[in-house]
Amino acid sequence: MHYTRTIWRPPYEADSLIIEATAGCTHHRCKFCTLYEDLPFAFRPSPLEDIEADLLEAQTWYHDPLRKAEERLFDLEGASADRVFLAGANPFGLKAHHLLAIAGLVRRYFPGCRSIGCFARVTDVAAKTDDELAALARAGFDGLTIGIETGDNKALAFMEKGYESAAIVKQCRRLDGAGIGYAFFYLAGISGAGRGIEGARATAAVANETRPWLIGANMLTVYPTSELYRDMQRGLWAEAGEVEKYEEIKELVARLEIPTRFAMLGASNPVMLAGSLPDQREEITAALDRIINDIGEERLRTYRANLRHL
Ligand code: SF4
Repeated sequence: MHYTRTIWRPPYEADSLIIEATAGCTHHRCKFCTLYEDLPFAFRPSPLEDIEADLLEAQTWYHDPLRKAEERLFDLEGASADRVFLAGANPFGLKAHHLLAIAGLVRRYFPGCRSIGCFARVTDVAAKTDDELAALARAGFDGLTIGIETGDNKALAFMEKGYESAAIVKQCRRLDGAGIGYAFFYLAGISGAGRGIEGARATAAVANETRPWLIGANMLTVYPTSELYRDMQRGLWAEAGEVEKYEEIKELVARLEIPTRFAMLGASNPVMLAGSLPDQREEITAALDRIINDIGEERLRTYRANLRHL
């Protein structure tokens, strides 16, 4: 398989067939991000020949859901390519015709594949026409994961995310119109020390205008190789405490009015949890209170300080 250095995927894509469509990120500027620093380049689309070769190779251990057992090369029960996840920071930034060509290859090798997902930036959606989004939906694109990080415009600008909160709402509504579902990644702590509650309120206001099937909260971990770390050394930004980040998440959970899944499942979270909103709001809040009261700042800080890798 043509996998380039570390491959990142959302926790809920664990059962998906992962095919690398791009390596690195077209934006490559967010101050806190160190995810693709092990690459010798900023961004590279995978050649279609590599994608095709990987799909061919994947047939040896993933079976197509439509293919009868006797037609399979190997009979590995459970390894069914119902869903393909295109790896890379933002494969959705590829031109629509390129994404449609990838979808065509997926269909050729796995005709029973039900959907294709990937990470997407808000700006990737903005760069496509409504007709292109509709064509991508017909080709199977669904369940994008968008790292909106926050709805706090001050934080978005400082971190150089490359869009404002209004763009999140606008582009997600276009995805809704096209029938392409999406999940959000939220980054607790991105607003900095003393501004977490403000950031959570701004994010809830944005999320309440959209329809993410899931909001996945991650917690900011500042690594010494990041631009953000250098800003901290220069006194330009101060990191929120661990308990403050959990208070921020509690505020977000309290203010979300849309029906959605809420999850904290990545390695940046010292405690994993997941539930449905609004039905499990009380349980989620109680779990967050237990983390704050029973674990506390010092032990949470120890976890963060020892988190060598996300
Ligand atoms: S868009 Fe995502 S992958 Fe790219 S620099 Fe920002 S956080 Fe990192």
